[in-house]
Amino acid sequence: MIRSAQPPRAVDPRRLRERMVQEQLVRRGIEDPVVLEAMRTVPRHLFVQEALRAQAYEDTPLPIGYGQTISQPYIVARMSELLETRPGMRVLEIGTGSGYQAMVLAAMGCTVFTVERIRELYTVTSALLRHLKPRGIHTKRDDGTLGMPEAAPFDRIIVTAGGPEVPLPLVNQLEDPGILVIPVGGVRRAQRLLRVRKERGTVTTEDMGGVVFVDLVGNHGW
Ligand code: SAH
Repeated sequence: MIRSAQPPRAVDPRRLRERMVQEQLVRRGIEDPVVLEAMRTVPRHLFVQEALRAQAYEDTPLPIGYGQTISQPYIVARMSELLETRPGMRVLEIGTGSGYQAMVLAAMGCTVFTVERIRELYTVTSALLRHLKPRGIHTKRDDGTLGMPEAAPFDRIIVTAGGPEVPLPLVNQLEDPGILVIPVGGVRRAQRLLRVRKERGTVTTEDMGGVVFVDLVGNHGW
């Protein structure tokens, strides 16, 4: 037998993603075909630190530096599904972090406006997103609890960090009809995932279950 001098070939990321979709998402009840297809397409391994690439498709959040994390694949899919988006919608994301959630929403056909408060994450992620998808994602460094007034209103808003309340500026910048998905909790690192709907001037809130997110820090956060 001829032994190759090459190291063994890395596992095909597409196969890892297909397994992730089946075992972590479909099996747990994610049904939206647009969400599943986006999760199948976006190369999650490019959004984690190089040393953690081999773990990128595991059923867990991972550190991205500065005390922050990229959410578990299931949570990204679940929040994306709860948003009930349609292609062409304008979506505001608070908490860019790695940029993975923003990229999934863009792959679902949305135009994404995403805000990050930590300068270093903003810089690194903006460069990565420019490299992967020049159009469809707009990044900004700011306190996202104030929203992005210059681009409002938004059809959908997603907050990927947990604070003590639903920031009023976000409700105000939500289109009517519109949907806002946000983790909210009175103690840190333990929140309820809320889906807030604005319809004909009325705002209603549904509790979608318990979640654990990093802190939303800012004017209307911790
Ligand atoms: N959606 C991200 C999750 C990152 S973790 C991803 O797919 O990787 C949450 C992020 O929210 C962190 O990067 C944190 O710095 C950011 N964050 C916390 N408070 C914020 C605020 N007030 N405005 C904008 N970003 C905030």
